[in-house]
Order: sequence, then C-alpha cells, then structure tokens
Amino acid sequence: MASTRRDYYELLGVDRSASADEIKKAYRKLAMKHHPDRNPGNKEAESAFKEISEAYEVLSDENKRRQYDQYGHDGMKSTFGPGGFDFSRDFTHASDLQDILGSLFGGQGGSFFEDFFGGGAEGGRRRSAGGTQRGSDLRFDLEIDLEEAVFGSQRDVSLPIAGECETCHGTGAKAGTSRETCRHCAGRGAVLSGSGFFQVRQTCPVCGGEGTMLKSPCNACQGAGRIKRQTRLTLKVPKGVETGSRLRLAGKGESGARGGQAGDLYVIIHVRKHDLFERQGDDLFCRVSVPFDVAALGGDIEVPTVDGMAKLKLSPGTETGKTFRLRGKGVPSVDGYGRGDLHVQVLPEVPVKLNGRQKKALKEFQEAGALENYPEAQRFRGLAEQFYERKRAIEGAQ
Ligand SMILES: [Zn+2]
Ligand SMILES: [Zn+2]
Repeated sequence: MASTRRDYYELLGVDRSASADEIKKAYRKLAMKHHPDRNPGNKEAESAFKEISEAYEVLSDENKRRQYDQYGHDGMKSTFGPGGFDFSRDFTHASDLQDILGSLFGGQGGSFFEDFFGGGAEGGRRRSAGGTQRGSDLRFDLEIDLEEAVFGSQRDVSLPIAGECETCHGTGAKAGTSRETCRHCAGRGAVLSGSGFFQVRQTCPVCGGEGTMLKSPCNACQGAGRIKRQTRLTLKVPKGVETGSRLRLAGKGESGARGGQAGDLYVIIHVRKHDLFERQGDDLFCRVSVPFDVAALGGDIEVPTVDGMAKLKLSPGTETGKTFRLRGKGVPSVDGYGRGDLHVQVLPEVPVKLNGRQKKALKEFQEAGALENYPEAQRFRGLAEQFYERKRAIEGAQ
C-alpha cells in the first residue's frame, strides 16, 4: 500500500532539495487551484486538496520532513495515526491557508470548509428512509488575537452556506409538481438481487435509497432543495478559548432538504502568537528588561499585563531571571471559573552608549567592587578551582 502512494515532493511539484519558501509557494499555488470552495461538488479537487495539504503538513515541518526523507510514508504512521492523515485533525497550517484564501473570503480572518466532517461517499450528508436529508456540518477556521482569546470578542463573518431554496421551499421539485414514487424499487428504497435461497438487499441504484424521484427538478436549485449564498453570521468568541477550541453553532450549517434537519457549523479557533505574552494553559509568561542599576539597588518597575501596566517592586540585588507571579493576571478560564496567573521574568539589561560621566561613575564603581558582589561568578570560580584540584590529584597519582 505504501508504495502506491504518491511522493509528497512529486505532489507539490518540487525538488527534494526545495527550500521552505519554495515549498510554501508551490502549496499556495496548488491550494488556490484545488480548494473545495473553488470547485464546489468536485470530489477529485477535494481529494487533491487533501493530498497536497498532507504533503505540505509534512514538508513544511523540519522534523516531519526529515522523518519522511528517511522512512517515506511508513515514517508518517506515528505522526498521523493508523487511519492516516485527517485534514480536520492533523492540518496545522490554517494561517497559511488563510493568506491564500484571503482573496476568496475577503480577508475576514478564517477559512471555510464544507463536508470535512463525516466524509464518506455522501460527503457527510445523511439520508433517511423518509427521503429527508440532513444538511452537512460545516467547519470554519477562525484566527484571533490573544487579546480576543482573553477578553472574548464578536466577529461578523460572511460564509457561503447552502440554505433552503426559496423557489421550491426545499422540496427540489418544480412548482406544481411533486416527487413521485421510484418505479424501480416501488418506493422501498432497496432492491433484492440474486435468486432462490440467497437474496441480497441493495440500496436502489435509481433513487439512491430515497424511494422517491424528482419528475421535474426545480430550476433554481436543480433539484437539490438548497442554494449556496453568502450568509452573514455573528460569531461570539467566549473568554478563555485557545488554539483548537471548537465552538458548535447548532443548526447553522448547511440547511436540510425535504424537511431534513440543518447541519451544524463548527468554528475552530486559532490564536495568533503574541509579541509580548506567551501562553501556557491559562497562565501567561512575559520577559521584562530592567535597568541593571534598578536590579542592583532595588526600586519600582512597570510591567505589562493584559489589563494594563502594573507596578512591581524589586528588592536590592534582584538576580537575573527572577520570576514574579502576578495572581489572577492571566487568561480567564473558559468554563468561567477564575483566571490564570501572569509570570514576569526580569532580565537586568547592560547599558549601552554610555557618556563620559557614566563611564567615569562605572570605573569608580568597578574599582570599589569585589568578587563578593557577584555570587554567581564567585560560585563559578569555586567550581573551576575544585576541578583543577581534582585534576592535579589524578595526575599526581599516576
Ligand atoms: Zn429549488
Ligand atoms: Zn428506487
């Protein structure tokens, strides 16, 4: 099986020595071409899109690429699990796709997929024996800033969602006509084949198991019962969400047909990296440079928090890397209980561009200084001395 799979480099049309940039460029070009929203209903484009996305997922990641170069598709088993690559679970480059698809969706900060849940021949649509058809679940990837993840936000987006056809009210039949019983299966939706003792029940190939057929399809929707149109939605992003958080908007997916239920819309959150704060769970981390003299003498400094600047008191002799915990200044918990903490690490900074007076003052300071002013340097010197002592002892014994 592994040998019949196409090579990732070949899929993207790049050399094995291609740079990260070349790989990204190739993927962008192909993703533009094969994206399902540019090729509605085209299963070949959809599977091509999934294939190139898988290739990009691997080749754009240094570690995964190395593993692939060494072991081929077999080396990807631990990365993607036994079922292989699953777009909705394994694709981690929503932001790259967003660049590419900005032009498709007017740059509203997300990308949109249909039929990416469920899969299968029906593309996630479920049919029932009564002929009603549930609408597909849809997925929308939304990129937000850390500030929005902390405080929550509202986003207005416009998505191409198939809604009920207004001409036929979802029946798929031309005005004045209705569906008629399938003659092939006499409305049962299934046919029996074989003869005698062994008979096999099969889905009716003519009506696809629905038991009814359209005599004259509605002109507006070609019998589908739904039409895709830009639909404006207000997405409420709750406080505390993080990358991978999934919001379910029940009934906001594709509309059902012939009285079927609408699908759901899933919004998958991606939080952009922040310049100031790094997030781990509900805690935030931040590094702050402080003048070395304030660290030595003690004093007040100002540090950033998501709620605004806060004062922090440094005691005299605050060492490099000391971390302060500001309780409750982190991210609110998504379940509504409490907030994480902010960890501020202070890093004394060496001053540059000294003027004459400063240099003179520092020279004086230097002349008055001693090793005991620098406990780390003192400790290090002690360790070095121990090392040479042991070395001499060994050499002496030989
Ligand atoms: Zn219609
Ligand atoms: Zn039939």
